[in-house]
Parts: sequence; structure tokens; C-alpha cells
Amino acid sequence: MSQSNISVNENGWIKWYCNLEDHHFFCEIDEFFIADQFNLYGLKQLFDHFEEALQMILSPNTPTDEDLEDDQFLELYNEASELYGLLHARFIITPQGLTLMKSKYLQGRFGVCPRVLCERQNVLPIGLSHDLRTSRVKIFCPRCQDVYSPKKQMSDVDGSFFGSVFPHIFLSVFSELNPTQPANEYVSKIFGFKVHKKKGSKFQIQQNQTEMYYYAEDHIKRLSQISNSQQQQSQQQIQQQSQKNDEEAEKKQKEALNAIQKLQKQKQKK
Ligand SMILES: [Zn+2]
Repeated sequence: MSQSNISVNENGWIKWYCNLEDHHFFCEIDEFFIADQFNLYGLKQLFDHFEEALQMILSPNTPTDEDLEDDQFLELYNEASELYGLLHARFIITPQGLTLMKSKYLQGRFGVCPRVLCERQNVLPIGLSHDLRTSRVKIFCPRCQDVYSPKKQMSDVDGSFFGSVFPHIFLSVFSELNPTQPANEYVSKIFGFKVHKKKGSKFQIQQNQTEMYYYAEDHIKRLSQISNSQQQQSQQQIQQQSQKNDEEAEKKQKEALNAIQKLQKQKQKK
């Protein structure tokens, strides 16, 4: 469905709200979606002025400069923007919402991954929670599968306005948009040698069994030789120990037999 099939008043609050500065992550929710009671389920109890906030969202007029200086209006505006946000999280996982978000994604409206090796991969908005005021909106990179803060801090855009499942539903529906190339991995190197077990190296935890600071092929050979000879040594030690144990056991057995024989002889004498 194209954007032109969406029912949004050209001069209404929704269009005005989505065009405010830092609101470029939002798409315009279809008014029919908002008017449907089913989509409002469970939201009423979260707001003190739910009906008024809903009316504001569906208003065909944009706020005037006077309105924006009125404290009472601003209080209601805050509720309306939170209600819009929570509805937005529900709308963007519908087929209609997903299509709108797809066109924004392809235009790079959500920005690119800040990780250098992701080579400016387009990202998707994500929230870390479904609950209001837990954290601001974040971005999810489909290539490195990680979450970052957006380049520009959007102070009034809450993470719950996008929810924590949106990118995953988006990428399952539009599976062709999954990056074909895997994420390039950065490998720490000093003069061409991989850095191991150093602070800041990603191999720090993965390979902590061997004391290896950096390696080239010679180092690996040497280390494997050392560990082989250590293994041989320990095997010899085990063999020697078991021999010793066997000898001691034999000795004890003989002593015990002698003692029994002595006792038997004493009994016979009696
Ligand atoms: Zn990335």
C-alpha cells in the first residue's frame, strides 16, 4: 500500500507532529487505525486525559503559536504525543505500517550504523522496552545485529514509540532486506600479529587457557611443543606415581599376610 492510500488529514495534528524537528523516525498513522477501538485496547488507563488526547491526535487543525504557549495545552500535548507513540508502536507492525517504514528505511531516514566495518548499513529504530519512559529510541543494525544510540539525541522520542520487536518483524517480513554480506569482524593486530589476551582484545575471554600475548606461526609451534613436552612429563609422573603405589600396596599385602601367619602359629602353639 502506498502512502497516498493512507488516511491522514493534510493539515491535521498527525502530519504536523511527524514533521516536527527530530520526529523523522515517525510515520503517519492511518486515522482509521486510531479510530478502531481494538487498537486502543489497554491504553486508556495509562493517561489522565485519554479522550482529550485522542481528540487532539485526530484534530484536523494544527496547533497555533498561542496554543504552544498555553501550559494547559502543552500538558495535553505531552499526553497526546505519548499516546501517539504507543499507537505508533502498534501501527508499524501492521502490513500498512511496515510498508511505510520500509520506504523510510530504503531512503536511509533512520540513519546508518556508526560501526565502521558495517560500511554505512541502514539501520532501523528500536526501543529497549515496551513501557513508557524507560529509555529513548535506539537504532538496530541488521548487519552487526547490535543496538546503538542514534547520532542525534531525540530527547522527546521514547523507545516505547517503536517497541522492541519492530526490527525483527520488519526483517522477517522483508527478508530480502537482510544484509547478504555478514558483518566484517575487526581483528586487533600489532605489526600483523593478532593481539591475544590483552585488555581491549576481543580474544581476551575467548582464549584465556593459554598464556598467549600475540602469535605468529613459530610461536604456535613453540607453544604446542611446550605443551606436548609438558603433557609427556605429566604422563611420566603419573606412571611413576602409579608404580610406586603398586609397590607400596604389595608391601602392605605381604606385611598383612605375615601378621596373619604369625597369629595362626601362636594359636597352634596354644
Ligand atoms: Zn552495524
